[in-house]
Amino acid sequence: MRSVARSVPAPADLGVDVLGVPVGTPIDVELRLEAVMEGVLVSGTARAQVSGECVRCLDPITQTVVVELQELYAYPGREPDSDEDEAELHQLEGDLLDLEPVLRDAVVLALPFQPLCRDDCPGLCSECGARLADEPGHGHETGDLRWAALQGLLDRPRPQQGETQHSTAETTTKET
Ligand SMILES: [Zn+2]
Ligand SMILES: [Zn+2]
Repeated sequence: MRSVARSVPAPADLGVDVLGVPVGTPIDVELRLEAVMEGVLVSGTARAQVSGECVRCLDPITQTVVVELQELYAYPGREPDSDEDEAELHQLEGDLLDLEPVLRDAVVLALPFQPLCRDDCPGLCSECGARLADEPGHGHETGDLRWAALQGLLDRPRPQQGETQHSTAETTTKET
């Protein structure tokens, strides 16, 4: 059994669209390498800083992710078992093992699909784009301005023939 602790630069495109590990930033990897019958069992953790944007308010986000890694790296020449996909079989390359695909899978799985700057981020106003966290009570009472213009047309009094008679009738009622 051997322990390995190492800081490695992040490969390109490690993450998802909205959140990922910036290329070249350090990933701290702590691994245990155990010799087993078929090869080397690798287990441990990787810690990295991810950055991205809040999906609601688009503020920049930086988070630390820690992922658990565990993978068997087989000795070269071993045929995959019948229930194994050859693409999923990791092999030792001489004294080396390629951690990147395993690290990539683990990091992508650990990232939230909808990262938020905070759990209750109110996001942006759907009408004007204002950051609602900055403006408590923000709102638009008039609603959409285009509808407001139409409403003005509807409210305008229309000249009608019966109108004069009606008001006369009302006056009469009051007089009696
Ligand atoms: Zn936010
Ligand atoms: Zn607004």
